[in-house]
Formats: sequence, structure tokens, C-alpha cells
Amino acid sequence: MAERPYIVGNWKMNGTRAMLSEARAIDRASQRHMKVEVALAPPFTLIHAVHREVEQIGVGAQDCHALTEGAHTGDISAAMALDAGAKFVILGHSERRTNHGESDALIRDKVAAAREAGLQVILCCGESEAQRDAGEAEAHVLGQLKAALPESDNASEWLTVAYEPIWAIGTGRVPTTDDIAAMHGAIRGLLTDMYGDAAAETRILYGGSVKAENAAAILALADVDGALVGGASLTAEAFLGIVYAAA
Ligand code: PEP
Repeated sequence: MAERPYIVGNWKMNGTRAMLSEARAIDRASQRHMKVEVALAPPFTLIHAVHREVEQIGVGAQDCHALTEGAHTGDISAAMALDAGAKFVILGHSERRTNHGESDALIRDKVAAAREAGLQVILCCGESEAQRDAGEAEAHVLGQLKAALPESDNASEWLTVAYEPIWAIGTGRVPTTDDIAAMHGAIRGLLTDMYGDAAAETRILYGGSVKAENAAAILALADVDGALVGGASLTAEAFLGIVYAAA
């Protein structure tokens, strides 16, 4: 278990102001569990409101545009997310890659834009079931990271990596603990090759059907520094079950 596990909830396209009570409850409970760093990524429309409601937990965005401003109807820049109260942004989520055709090159540009604006980055990577079955999972995941990350930087200060096998997201299926540990070890190895000893400080989260029931076993693994949680972050009760398992 990491010294201070990082548990991040991704609300995806869920939540209106009625859900602010969940954020408040998560925040209040997190103040009693300071050994765990807790954060929420609500939809853009709730970033400002959540930021105003909470005292302890971090607030982030689920995406940002690669450019700073301009004629991009419906898009949000990194600076806008920051201005609304976000301190980090999730980039490269498989739902963005699949539903919006985001390429590694675009994600690299978004990472640069987020850094330029002063946002921390949670960079997602993960293989499909077919890639895992073909024995290509590790090469695919490391390839995604190499393609999206700058070659040299003090990345440990702003980067968190989230390993999220696509086939485990929202399905109730989870890789074996051996497979999670092997992938996290490979990611740590790549980060060390790229950034040297500082990579020991870069947090690597696991995401994909994390729940209170499986969180402790996953979080106990070497090189698992926390979790990125989708479905189980939508209620304070479910999410706090994971926070308590990390404490
Ligand atoms: C996610 O999409 O980031 C995720 C981990 O979802 P879930 O927890 O619902 O599998």
C-alpha cells in the first residue's frame, strides 16, 4: 500500500447540482481520513460548484482541449478548467479514445496544454481484451504512454498514470492481482527509463471495476498507488467504502 494512497472518482457524464450532497459527504469523511488523498472529477458543469462546496478533496476535469482558446464550439480549455476550480485533468480515458477518436498524438498535445495551464495530469492507458488475449497488453500500454508523455521533464511533480484495462471498465471484471502488479511494474520501469529515480514518486493508479470489496487487495500490490473509480464514485457510500479500504 502506498504511503498516502490516491483515490480519484470519475463521475463521467453523471451529476447535476442534486449530486453536490454526495461531494459534501465525501469531503467531510475524507477530512477524517487524511492518510488517503481523495479527489473527484465531476462533469465540467459541476467543477465550480464542487470546488466551492468542498474543503479537503481535490477537484479535477475529465478532459480539456489541446488549444488555449478559439472557435471550438462545445470545448473547454485547460485554463478554463483551472479557472473553474480544477487542479488536475484526466486525459486519454478509453471512453475519450473510443467515443471521440482521440489519438495518442492528440493526447500528447492535451498533456502539453494542461501543463502549460498549470494543471496536474492523470494520464490513462489500457489494453482491449483482444490485445490482452494476443499477449500484446504490455507493449500497447507502454506504447500509449511513450506516445503521450514528454521525453524529459520533472514529470513526477505533475503526472499520475492510471492503468485501466478497457475490458475491466464498468464490467465488474478485474484482472488478476498478478496481472495488475506486472503491468504496474512495467509502467514503473518505463517511467524510470524516461525520468530516472524521480519516477519512484509518480503515482500509478489502477482503474476498472474497483469497489469496496476488491479495493484492499488491489491497493496492497506493489506499484499500485491508488485507484481511479468510475461507477462506485457516484454515491458517497460506495466511494467511501473504497477510501476506507485504502486508509
Ligand atoms: C473508469 O472509467 O475510469 C472506471 C474505472 O470505471 P469503473 O470504475 O466504473 O469500472
